[in-house]
Amino acid sequence: MSVETSSSRQPAVVLRPAEADRVVAGHPWVYERGIQKVQGEPGNGDVVTVLDPRRRFLGMGFYNARSRLRVRVISHRNAPIDAAFFEQRLGEALALRERRFPDARSFRLVNAEGDFLSGLIVDKYEDVLVVQISSAGMEQRKELIFDALEKIVSPRAIVERGDIASRQFEGLPELAGIARGECADEIAFELDGLRLLATPFSGQKTGFYLDQRTNHRLVAEEVARRPGARVLDCFSSTGAFALHAARAGAGSVHGLDQSREALMTARRLADENGVGDRCVFEEANVFDWLKAHSAPGGDDPAPGQFDVVILDPPSFTRNRASVPNALRGYKEIHVRALKLLSPGGLLATFCCSHHVDAGMFQDVILSAAFDVRRVLRRVAVCSQSLDHPVIPSIPETEYLKGFLFEVVR
Ligand code: SAH
Repeated sequence: MSVETSSSRQPAVVLRPAEADRVVAGHPWVYERGIQKVQGEPGNGDVVTVLDPRRRFLGMGFYNARSRLRVRVISHRNAPIDAAFFEQRLGEALALRERRFPDARSFRLVNAEGDFLSGLIVDKYEDVLVVQISSAGMEQRKELIFDALEKIVSPRAIVERGDIASRQFEGLPELAGIARGECADEIAFELDGLRLLATPFSGQKTGFYLDQRTNHRLVAEEVARRPGARVLDCFSSTGAFALHAARAGAGSVHGLDQSREALMTARRLADENGVGDRCVFEEANVFDWLKAHSAPGGDDPAPGQFDVVILDPPSFTRNRASVPNALRGYKEIHVRALKLLSPGGLLATFCCSHHVDAGMFQDVILSAAFDVRRVLRRVAVCSQSLDHPVIPSIPETEYLKGFLFEVVR
C-alpha cells in the first residue's frame, strides 16, 4: 500500500451544510446525499479530505462508493492515516479502559464509533485479541492495525472475526481465522473472579457479551440481597448472568436459550465455577417457554415461582419500521415474566435495540405491568459497560438500556 499523505492531490469530499455540522459535532458518517462534490477519483478504502461547503478542512475519512456510508471520518487532524496514527488512537482507547477498569485484563478495547474508529472493533480476552473489521478503509490497513495492537498490548494471538453482515455492505468478503500468533478455538479468561469462555470462531458476537459486564455485577448484587433466590435467566447465552447469580447466593438458577451450543458452554462453566449443582440450562424458545409456564394451570413451575427474572433478548429491530413489532415482543415477554415473579421479586430487563430508547422501553414494561396488575419500583437504570463508550453526538453509539425493577405488589 502506498504511503498516504494529506497533500493537495489527495481526493476530497465537499459536504452539504447539515452534514458538515454533524461532522463538526463528532459524527463520523457521511451519506451520499450529504455530499456536494467529490474532487478527484478516490478508490474504495482510500483516504479523502473532508471539506465544509466553504472548502474549509473538517477532517480525513475513508471513502467507499459501495457503501451507504460514503465517507467515514476517522481524524479531525490534517495528518496521514499511518502507523503512528493507529498507535496513537489505539493507545488512547487502551488508556480509557485502564482508567475505567484498572484491574481488568479483558474488555472491549475498541468500539468503533465510540472510539472514533468507525469500522473497527477489538475485544481483548486476557492476551488474545478478537478483531472485527467492517469498512474497506480499515480492511486495507489491517496489517498496520495489527502491528499497532502488537506494539501496545503484546497479545499472544490476534483473531479476525469477519463474518458479520455489515461487511457485505462494504463489499468485503466473510472471513474468520487467526491473523497473528496462535490460539485454540476457545479462549478461557477470568472476569470478576469467574472463569469464562469466549468462542470467537463460532460464538455470538466476538464470543462474549462484554457490554453487559456492569449489569452482570449489578444483578449479582441484587441476588445477594435475596439469599436462596430462585432465578430465571432468559436469553442466557453462555450463562453470564446465571453464573453471577449462582455465585451471589441464588438457591437455584434456570437458564433458557435457543442455542444448544451456548448452553453447553454455560453448563461447563457452571461446573468449572463450582455452582453447577444449582444451575439448570434448558434449550427453549423463551416466548414459548414463558407462555407455557405463566398460564394458570400451565406447566410447572406455577406463576409466582421466581424471585428474580432476567430478560436479555437480542435486538428485535433491524430498522425503525420494525419497532412496533419489536414493542409487541417486548410487551409479551414482560407480561409473562411479571406473572412468574413473586411479590418483592426482581425484574432485570434489557433492550439492546438502538431504535427503542429507554423511554419507549419503560413505557412497554409499565403497560405490561398494568395488564397483569403489578406495580413496580425502579431500583436501577442500566446502560452498556463503559468500554462501549457512549458519545451523545453519535446517537448510534448508545444501544443498550435496561432497568432493575422490584415488584411492589
Ligand atoms: N444474557 C447473555 C447474552 C444474551 S444474547 C449474557 O449476558 O451473556 C441473546 C441470546 O438470546 C442469544 O444467546 C440467543 O441465542 C438467544 N435467543 C434469541 N432468541 C431467542 C428465543 N426466541 N428464545 C431463546 N433464546 C433466544
